[in-house]
Amino acid sequence: MTPLPQPRVRPRGATPLSVARTLDRCTVLGPGNRAVIWVQGCPLRCQGCVAAETLPFEGGTSRSVAELADWLCALGDIEGVTFSGGEPFSQARGLAELLDAVRERRPDFGALAYSGFRHEALRRGGPDRIALLERLDLLVDGPYVAARHASLRWRGSDNQRLIPLTDRYTRFLDEPDTTAGIELSVAAGGALSWSGVPPTPGFRRRLEERLAARGFVLHTEARRER
Ligand code: SF4
Repeated sequence: MTPLPQPRVRPRGATPLSVARTLDRCTVLGPGNRAVIWVQGCPLRCQGCVAAETLPFEGGTSRSVAELADWLCALGDIEGVTFSGGEPFSQARGLAELLDAVRERRPDFGALAYSGFRHEALRRGGPDRIALLERLDLLVDGPYVAARHASLRWRGSDNQRLIPLTDRYTRFLDEPDTTAGIELSVAAGGALSWSGVPPTPGFRRRLEERLAARGFVLHTEARRER
């Protein structure tokens, strides 16, 4: 009997990721000391979005899962990684593959992701989104709503929720729910970048204006760390 043709299966780790930028140390986008990957592209358009340069799906830098896994695993003293954007769940398959690749070498590697979609919608969003949810420890869900801006830990408006998906970070959820602030970082080439959730609306514009007055420009584009 002639065998039925088998569906093509993409090899594990073969899904490239479109990355807006990365940061190897951050303490204001989740528990502990974390790397951050801002993915490129978001289908939503929240008024007051603080990462407008990450919204188009064009642009960004194509990074392989293997390359990003090597980078994360080489950052010896970090607690885990935070996926921000852009919309991480628009690249759910690649991010799930990335966590699998990292945890082959570092099984105790933490993972947090932001999403402009609600948790319930992501659960109905297909196998790739479910696969990413199943690999996360903490989800920050929901769109940014400027009219509900609040100075909260790791999120910008009070409709956004911290949803534990494992018990890894539950102890942090009992701590005071106040802003973690922002951080400025200087990369090896001297580029200045920032991370965090702005404590007030319009914060980024004011920050950029104040830095520009001193001759600094914020770095917002992808770069390779290694
Ligand atoms: S979901 Fe996030 S990245 Fe997308 S528009 Fe809203 S705030 Fe911006």
